[in-house]
Amino acid sequence: MKTKISLEEAQTMLKSCFKPTGTERVSIFNAHQRVLAQDILAPIDQPPFDRSPVDGYAMKASDSTEAGKEHPVKLQLIEEVCAGQFPEKEVAEKTACRIMTGAPIPRGADCVIRQEETSENNGYVEIHMQLLAGENYCYQGEDIKKGEHILKKDDILNYAGIGILASMGITEVLVYKIPKVAVLSTGDELTPIDEKLQPGKIYNSNLFTIGMRLKEFGMEPVIVGNVADHIEESCLIIKEELAKADILITIGGVSVGKKDLVKEIMKEVGADILFWKVNMKPGTPVLASSWKGKPILSLSGNPAAASISLELLVRDFLAYYAHRHDLELEKSEAILENSFAKESKRRRILRGRVVKRGKDEFIELVDKHSPGVLSSLYRCNCLVDVPAGTPALDKGQSVTVYKLQTTGS
Ligand code: AMP
Ligand code: MG
Repeated sequence: MKTKISLEEAQTMLKSCFKPTGTERVSIFNAHQRVLAQDILAPIDQPPFDRSPVDGYAMKASDSTEAGKEHPVKLQLIEEVCAGQFPEKEVAEKTACRIMTGAPIPRGADCVIRQEETSENNGYVEIHMQLLAGENYCYQGEDIKKGEHILKKDDILNYAGIGILASMGITEVLVYKIPKVAVLSTGDELTPIDEKLQPGKIYNSNLFTIGMRLKEFGMEPVIVGNVADHIEESCLIIKEELAKADILITIGGVSVGKKDLVKEIMKEVGADILFWKVNMKPGTPVLASSWKGKPILSLSGNPAAASISLELLVRDFLAYYAHRHDLELEKSEAILENSFAKESKRRRILRGRVVKRGKDEFIELVDKHSPGVLSSLYRCNCLVDVPAGTPALDKGQSVTVYKLQTTGS
């Protein structure tokens, strides 16, 4: 078991110890916001035939060279074709075919005149303007060519992606499975939210914070509930839940207190402990283990510490595990709006809100930074990474930030 490792070492270790999620075929109805596990090549042209983008008359442009408002050209109507029908006749010189939007353009025609630029009479149409070949003419494959690489492996399928699949007649696609992430809190003090608080007890907020954030990451959280600080009871629940889930997140009990039993529990369960404690504050007490090839990530019970470990460690792992590359956090620089009085002997993670003004980004730090504070997470949309050995921070100083928004698609 490694201990007191850097965040980056912990991230690398997790990714090297576990295989990412597998794949499954799903109907395109269920593929929305899922990660594609295959490249998609267009099986057909889109549109599949030359078609009219307007209601009008399909004709030869060469027939319109003399046409004008004052001296219309008369063409004989040979056929009428609506969307969904297919024209039988070929358009020859001095003839035209009445055509509706979306209908196939008949052979022989090279343009379509809008109905508004014509008048129809006794089997003839009068053309009031000149047209060029290709005018109001939608070519087969002009949107998507057969064989074109339309969607790529690892793309997150948004509404337009699903629409493109539908336009090609593709009913199913191969996507990566959504990981089932079981969330179990531990602690004698934790009270279900629908019960009256007794002295010394608190409500179980982490179960919700962590569960909902996992949902925002596109995972399938399984909210297990709470277990008391008790080794045998915990072992039973952990084995039961991990048999069903892909990943287990436990909350609480990973520090050094008398009731911090999670390390013992992991040993008792038969899990291999990979590391304990990461060099950052908050979020130092975090334990990672492996049970039958499945990851168990044990976070501190302190609400902000749990959330920060979730953003910086678990999220990075899930990006890899679930092929959700959009979850990878990027470092950027921003300017501090307010100061932070304490020096940072150890690597410190501060919560903040990034606001854009002009082309610069500014960070308003939250006012309460202790690991037990939950309220400051609500408006927090970024974390500031303060390296060990940094003196107090001044307003106007540039800092390294991780923006926390999830893009999805
Ligand atoms: P622990 O990590 O178990 O030592 O807990 C650290 C602090 O977080 C203690 O004040 C706990 O009462 C609190 N805490 C632990 N688990 C939760 C939870 N699920 N929801 C809210 N607070 C918690
Ligand atoms: Mg505890």
